[in-house]
Amino acid sequence: MGTQVEAKLALVTGASRGIGAAIAEVLAENGFQVALLGRDAQALSSVEQKLTATGARARSFICDVADEAAVDATLARIETSLGVPGVLVNNAGYGGPFHRADEVSKQEWDTLFRVNVDGVYYLCRWALPRMKAGGYGRIVNISSIQGLFGGALSSTYSATKHALVGYSKTLAAEWGAYGITCNAVCPGYIDTEMLAKADPGVRKELLRRIPTGRFGTAEEVARLVAFLAGPHGGYINGSALVMDGGLSAHLGNDLPSF
Ligand code: NAP
Repeated sequence: MGTQVEAKLALVTGASRGIGAAIAEVLAENGFQVALLGRDAQALSSVEQKLTATGARARSFICDVADEAAVDATLARIETSLGVPGVLVNNAGYGGPFHRADEVSKQEWDTLFRVNVDGVYYLCRWALPRMKAGGYGRIVNISSIQGLFGGALSSTYSATKHALVGYSKTLAAEWGAYGITCNAVCPGYIDTEMLAKADPGVRKELLRRIPTGRFGTAEEVARLVAFLAGPHGGYINGSALVMDGGLSAHLGNDLPSF
């Protein structure tokens, strides 16, 4: 395959809001052309308009990452219209179901795996041989702090996010020799819509446990992703990079105040 990889073209899944929209924005600010992928046409279009208004190049592609045929068709359209992205950010995903492990239905389990894990597999399966042929690629999979630690009432989510860490490390080992890096980013609690909806008591308790005393921002995650995708990120490969304000650095005993 004599494929040309467009090093300054980034494909971001789940780019319609939250962390994905911030990643698209920061990558655009860093000179990338961005292919925005998601299911909500209106939300994607408003991100696209925001980016293009700044002079950046961005284009929306409506696609459910859990739908294998739709992903393949969308990727073919992206390849034909924009080329092969040098940067792939697998961000699309969601949390839940939030109940005890024995109460998780098979349908809930399968549905979450289809989005959080199968979707990443479809995109990487397509990107890897093309990036190899072009001799360049940067893959960033958005996992979670729950990809490294468990969390009560989120067994399914934690299992999907652990899967991404293992998958990212293995891709790094398999494909590193071909100019491709693959890393997982593991954010702690980031103040997106999902967290804004949480009960105030839950928010307060979470904040109490975070040494920096605040939630992270989508922009902070985006800037880490942009570093991995940028010219200085090439020697970080196979890492699971934690960004959680120190949440996972301690044993959960009461934090001293002084
Ligand atoms: P969000 O605001 O709910 O955004 C999720 C994005 O994923 C949306 O753009 C959504 O777009 C897209 N998406 C969901 N299912 C999809 C599907 N089947 N096909 C295509 N796109 C899909 O969530 P967020 O907080 O930004 O989270 C983004 C990623 O970071 C997720 O993988 C999440 O697990 C991870 N994360 C978040 C936090 C946090 O505290 N927020 C912490 C750790 C990790 P549409 O619904 O429009 O399709």
